[in-house]
Amino acid sequence: MESKQRTQNPQLEHASSYYAASANPSPLRETLKEDVTTDVCIIGAGYTGLSSALHLLEAGFNVVVLEAARVGWGASGRNGGQIVNSYSRDIDVIEKTVGKEKARLFGEMAFEGGKIIRERVEKYNIECDLKNGGVFAALNAKQMHELEHQKALWERHGNDQLEMLNQNDIRSMVDTERYVGGLLDKSGGHIHPLNLALGEAAAVESLGGNIYEHSAAIRIERGEPVKVFTEQGSVTASFLIVAGNAYLGGLMPELRAKSMPCGTQVITTEPLTDDQAKSLLPQDYCVEDCNYLLDYFRLSGDKRLIYGGGVVYGARDPADIDAIIIPKMLKTFPQLSNVKIDYRWTGNFLMTLSRLPQVGRVGSNIYYSQGCSGHGVTYTHLAGRLLSEVLRGQAERYDAFASLPHLPFPGGHVLSVPFSALGAWYYTMRDKFGI
Ligand SMILES: Cc1cc2nc3c(=O)[nH]c(=O)nc-3n(C[C@H](O)[C@H](O)[C@H](O)COP(=O)(O)OP(=O)(O)OC[C@H]3O[C@@H](n4cnc5c(N)ncnc54)[C@H](O)[C@@H]3O)c2cc1C
Repeated sequence: MESKQRTQNPQLEHASSYYAASANPSPLRETLKEDVTTDVCIIGAGYTGLSSALHLLEAGFNVVVLEAARVGWGASGRNGGQIVNSYSRDIDVIEKTVGKEKARLFGEMAFEGGKIIRERVEKYNIECDLKNGGVFAALNAKQMHELEHQKALWERHGNDQLEMLNQNDIRSMVDTERYVGGLLDKSGGHIHPLNLALGEAAAVESLGGNIYEHSAAIRIERGEPVKVFTEQGSVTASFLIVAGNAYLGGLMPELRAKSMPCGTQVITTEPLTDDQAKSLLPQDYCVEDCNYLLDYFRLSGDKRLIYGGGVVYGARDPADIDAIIIPKMLKTFPQLSNVKIDYRWTGNFLMTLSRLPQVGRVGSNIYYSQGCSGHGVTYTHLAGRLLSEVLRGQAERYDAFASLPHLPFPGGHVLSVPFSALGAWYYTMRDKFGI
């Protein structure tokens, strides 16, 4: 059965990551080979698609999910695993765009995604090495000042799990001399991201949802109902949710025009000794620094160091991931110079010009959410809830996101990559000199 359906294309199997190597058992799902009818068709089995599917099934909808490759094949199965609260741009930036009153809603939702993940893990018994606690690490006085501002802002919106860290405090949590201080968010944390996605897919199926793998949506016939075609079948549905994010390609040209796929790379060491792991990250918190192009790292369930960073604009696969990430890791932890790297991989996230997610509707019945710009583990779980709310006729929270203004990247597809790289270079220089 497995060998009959497995595609000949290794690109459509999970990236050869630490996560794929340590994934919980999960069935190979069927390819869609017939014409089916449902309430909601969802394109993409990452967190956005799976979270939407779960919320909708819990609300009584019938759901079919089409996945071009495997469940969690995209960013959701490859990411740093860090449960980071709020959005890629914080609530104060949103406040400047939409005003105080509307921003209040965003503040209320800023910590909901992490709660949804924890609810899912508990309700559906998902084994994904969930750990609590995340540290934002400051490399200079300016970043420390920004973290104090972030703490005050998040507290104003209800997060009482925050603690400023001075240099000694952070040194007792992360064994490096690089940081001048930081902010601990006890409601942050980390997970094995692929196992979370696989567990959510199993939950979708336990509620009667159908997920088809190796079933790329290749054409959408817009209308009421909407019809989605794959190579060998079709789904006719009252509603469509498009959740292909950085891997959607040109299927919906209007979504491609206002976003840009970017790559980021991750390496994983061999398992560390208990003493090594305990000295690097004694409380097992995850860490991300405060640079524009940031480094992020944490321990896995079996005590490897998972270290990520770097951005490739336009999402070309870099030739040598080790050459990009190992120097970053050794700058933070020179004591790991003799440790072997067992896995390295790249994955794509979707950047928007404002770095805020894009949520909306095309026609009367095609909804989408995309572009969390690097911080999407929590937001995508919230997005699923918002999309299920709007299909149930409760639009207030969905409308708040949908009303965020979004511009296309300057220069269109050809020039957006060099323009963005130039912008990133500018911010990298500011980070470097702490200005
Ligand atoms: C390396 C890396 C590290 C990251 N680290 C973090 C982190 O630590 N914390 C954090 O908050 N965020 C992180 N992110 C971002 C986060 O992972 C993403 O924002 C989030 O997973 C996006 O989920 P998604 O479901 O929208 O997209 P994806 O997980 O990319 O899922 C999209 C799915 O749609 C499918 N698809 C696309 N087109 C079609 C089609 N035509 N038909 C059918 N299926 C289709 C794809 O195959 C894919 O499986 C990271 C991202 C990367 C790449």
